[in-house]
Amino acid sequence: MSTDLYRRIGRFLDDHRLSPDPSHYAFVHAILTDPNGGLARAAASLIDGGVRLHQDDIVRLGGGTPATRPEPVEPKVEAPPVRDHAVPTADSQSDSLAAQTQGHVETFLAILRSVQADATAFGADLARSAAKMDRAEAIGLSALAALTGEMLERIHASERRLQQATAEADALREKLAEARATARRDPLTGLANRLAFNESLGQCFEAVDPCHLALCDIDRFKRINDEHGHAVGDRVLTAIGQILAEEGQGHLVCRHGGEEFAILMSGISKRDATALVERARQAVRERRLRVRETDQSVGQITISAGITSFRPEDTQETLFARADELLYRAKNDGRDLAYAD
Ligand code: GH3
Ligand code: MG
Ligand code: MG
Repeated sequence: MSTDLYRRIGRFLDDHRLSPDPSHYAFVHAILTDPNGGLARAAASLIDGGVRLHQDDIVRLGGGTPATRPEPVEPKVEAPPVRDHAVPTADSQSDSLAAQTQGHVETFLAILRSVQADATAFGADLARSAAKMDRAEAIGLSALAALTGEMLERIHASERRLQQATAEADALREKLAEARATARRDPLTGLANRLAFNESLGQCFEAVDPCHLALCDIDRFKRINDEHGHAVGDRVLTAIGQILAEEGQGHLVCRHGGEEFAILMSGISKRDATALVERARQAVRERRLRVRETDQSVGQITISAGITSFRPEDTQETLFARADELLYRAKNDGRDLAYAD
């Protein structure tokens, strides 16, 4: 993100006396990067005339950014000037999506209610006209034509509103799909998160094909944070996640927590699964990451791993306990090792 954008976001927060917490930051980021979007327009109409945005306004407008994947990882890592706000949190993304979804539902319902009210009134009018005819009251041709014209116009108006309702329902379906995807993605690395992982794990327990679990933990990651700062640590995590995703293509690579990744492999032999993890470890070991701003090397990064195969009697706990135990042994034996059972 450009420094200019950071400055504009900072200025906006200052102007509106908003604290720089991540949800405010993400909200302002969303409206400044998409000035013609719905969120920006809704905010602009509130600000019109110099009124300050209040935190409640932001919450009401959905206060977050649209779900976006982080920028593609480059070989160099960069320390963004404002770290805590650079990555939209899962919470802010979900809040924003929930608010947008609620907006669509409310519009949808309002349209349906108005169509229903119209249909009721229309029905009553028709009944009155029919009663008139029943009573053989004179109803001239021109009156009949006017009545038919009015009916047609009302039917067309209802059709237009129903079309609008269909469009709202489509938007709603898209937002719900987006919300599902966001809920299953780690906001920092863009990888699957634990929820997505647990769902796939459930399928593995029922699968007939062989399945294997690898727990991979970055060695001495704390050092990177200590030496280069948390922001660089974040970029390193994203870069490592990307390498693992590339090496683990066709399998599920997930950020399982902090600086730990899990790979779920199915349909391959234990030997191939172990070879895959070795290739991934090798790729990480060979990657030279540098801090873009200072060109300082981050140093060699290594990963330790524990690899185990699903057994018929396994539960999630027993499976993870074995992988953890193997990983623990790899750490104890000096790190930069992978053990399989
Ligand atoms: P070991 O080889 O034993 O795994 O050593 P380690 O330093 O990697 O492990 P330790 O558990 O001592 O420290 C993990 C560190 O990872 C501490 C924590 O601050 C850091 N960390 C966890 N999540 C994140 C994150 O999202 N961003 C950054 N920058 N650091 C993180
Ligand atoms: Mg570690
Ligand atoms: Mg760890």
